[in-house]
Amino acid sequence: MRSEACKALKKQGYQFFNDRSSAALKPCMWNKRTLRGGEMCYKHTFYGIESHRCVQMTPTLRCNQRCLFCWRSMEHEVREEEEIDPAEIVSRVPALQKKALSGFKVSQYVTQERFAEALDPNMVAISLSGEPTCYSRLPELIDLFNGEGYTTFLVSNGTRPWVLERCRPYQLYVSLDAPDRETYLRICRPKGDYWEFLQESLSLLGPRRSVIRVTVVQGENDVCPEGYARMIQESGADFVEVKGYMYLGYSRKRLSRENMPEHEHVWAFAEAIAKHCDYRLLDERPISRVVCLERIQ
Ligand code: SF4
Repeated sequence: MRSEACKALKKQGYQFFNDRSSAALKPCMWNKRTLRGGEMCYKHTFYGIESHRCVQMTPTLRCNQRCLFCWRSMEHEVREEEEIDPAEIVSRVPALQKKALSGFKVSQYVTQERFAEALDPNMVAISLSGEPTCYSRLPELIDLFNGEGYTTFLVSNGTRPWVLERCRPYQLYVSLDAPDRETYLRICRPKGDYWEFLQESLSLLGPRRSVIRVTVVQGENDVCPEGYARMIQESGADFVEVKGYMYLGYSRKRLSRENMPEHEHVWAFAEAIAKHCDYRLLDERPISRVVCLERIQ
């Protein structure tokens, strides 16, 4: 497996676990910012996660949707790959994270203590790019990460509930980017009509520690807050992250800067959703244009 896209991604800092699969990790912007003594990401604000000890990764870059707002390239999609063994991923995480962060060791802003902490990650966010449930051994991978003491976050587009129901991450995210089927098909451009599968995934959230993520694309899916609210209410998810679309990466080929909402717009839309369900505003992070709602017990 080596597509043109993978070569481009390597230049952007992606570290691939081997040459045959598209499994990769890449420290996020907040990881590096925290390493330099700066502030942590909104997951710290909302859930207490330490950004510099977080590994952002994916077991596959394959995906069964082509969301308008996705930052990945769809021109050179990964179709074929040899799936990597989950144990190989888990064992290689510390070395690859170290490789990705090696340039920071000599930075005057990075203390030795913080650098040592960053090389000893304790959190894995399976959310880099691609749809992780397209990797057939995802449940096993998460169990292995859990067994090694990592806190695991899994972010899914919700189109494969039969995989999700076998996954046991510490916190499960399902994306909900449309209030109805028609908008879903237009915004997420799935390979088939997966709307009912998405509904099934939402129905799995109630008994788990879970989050629904809504990416607000101004002028595209910021309509019918009561439609979102109905599905959120029925799901019983613990939290809802209403997050503004960011005009970044390859999404700029599909959307315009005007589709990127100001924080005030995101906040107002989150408030409109909360009005129609038993959720309240918990916190917000204007720099990330994200608002967190929590279920009223
Ligand atoms: S589901 Fe995720 S990875 Fe797939 S196209 Fe949508 S945003 Fe991108």
